[in-house]
Amino acid sequence: MKVFKFGGASVNSIERIQNVAKILTSYRDEKILIVVSAIGKTTNSLEKVAEAFYSGNSQEALQLFRQVKKAHSDMAKYLLVKTALKAEERLESFYTEVEWLLHDKPVRDYDYYYDQIVSIGELLSTTIFSASLEEAGLKNEWIDVRDIFRTDDNFRDASINWNYTSKQVIEKVIPLFEKCPFVVTQGFIGSTDENESTTLGREGSDYSAAVFANILNAESQTIWKDVEGVMNADPKIQPDAVFLKELNYDEVIEMAYYGAQVIHPKTIKPLQNKGIPLIVKCFLDASLPGTIIHNNAVNSLPPIIIWKYNQVKVDLHTTDFSFVNEKPAGLLYQMLNDLKLKPNLTQSGAVSMHLCIDDNPERLEKLAIKASELFDVELEKNLTLLTIRHYSDEVIQKLSAGKTILLRQQTPETIQMLMK
Ligand code: ASP
Ligand code: MG
Repeated sequence: MKVFKFGGASVNSIERIQNVAKILTSYRDEKILIVVSAIGKTTNSLEKVAEAFYSGNSQEALQLFRQVKKAHSDMAKYLLVKTALKAEERLESFYTEVEWLLHDKPVRDYDYYYDQIVSIGELLSTTIFSASLEEAGLKNEWIDVRDIFRTDDNFRDASINWNYTSKQVIEKVIPLFEKCPFVVTQGFIGSTDENESTTLGREGSDYSAAVFANILNAESQTIWKDVEGVMNADPKIQPDAVFLKELNYDEVIEMAYYGAQVIHPKTIKPLQNKGIPLIVKCFLDASLPGTIIHNNAVNSLPPIIIWKYNQVKVDLHTTDFSFVNEKPAGLLYQMLNDLKLKPNLTQSGAVSMHLCIDDNPERLEKLAIKASELFDVELEKNLTLLTIRHYSDEVIQKLSAGKTILLRQQTPETIQMLMK
């Protein structure tokens, strides 16, 4: 058994959906659980619908939702013949699910509505995807993952109930492979025991696939992307980025932690726990080998470079020149935690602390107000945080040339520099 995950970019046009069907043709003798994201930027569009609805603009929300509907129905119309009726019926039932809600007035909190609305993206994409495979002669079973993935009700960042979910996968998903080689389902979403839809956090489909891989004891998980594999830097920022043939789990966890947008950070653990290799492969050229991520030690990696823009330096200085000991530091961490602010770098001295945080003006203002009870607080904005793993002096020089370094932290493996 294998698990495949196809992201939004792999299904964002008629040609691309057909291309995926072509790729899958060469896997028809295997058993593959296929997790699919919402088409293209649908999740962003649905976020707009949720925002409009929650701010009381139901007409605007309906109007925005009509655009999402049209895009999906148009796509279905072009792609589907034999399966068109069945697929359109299913699409309609999901459209109705959302429209019913949009006609109401919001009475619960935003995150709840967000999940009820945004979760539809994956249900729509997989409906079209599954029908397209059928059209291409690829027999498959479509399932609503909300019947399988049970989560808590922490909307927008729900946690999986592993016991219940495992039981569902074993009882309801595994038997489907007796009928056909492919089972198609949604990433990113789940459901509470009250049958409310939930989401697992943006870009969560990688993680959904890993949950399936873990429970199914899959031989591997493949994430299909529009790039050759994992690179040592973002090629859009650094055209000299190089392809990495092999990585180990720990390296990828570190990369995700420092902000590399490779794979959803939660993805690795379920795979690592069962030693399931993760392959990042290119859907534009399936003959390329891709990057393999596994438990083996990988030596001699090139420098891995991660840029984070829009950073804020928060300087905290004790007002009475008392030392920054556990007490003020503890209180500060409590404030950060309450405001859901995660520093990307922290440094403390005798009477001061420095943090580097993603710019979130609203939360930072709250932090500044609260922290000023204990510290003199200063903020400096528009900074860039550079992280280099497996650095060399040469690469540090090259990437920091002409910049002012405001904070710097170094271990034998990793250097971080906050710069302007
Ligand atoms: N569609 C969701 C998102 O865009 C989940 C995913 O693509 O992984 O965040
Ligand atoms: Mg995506």
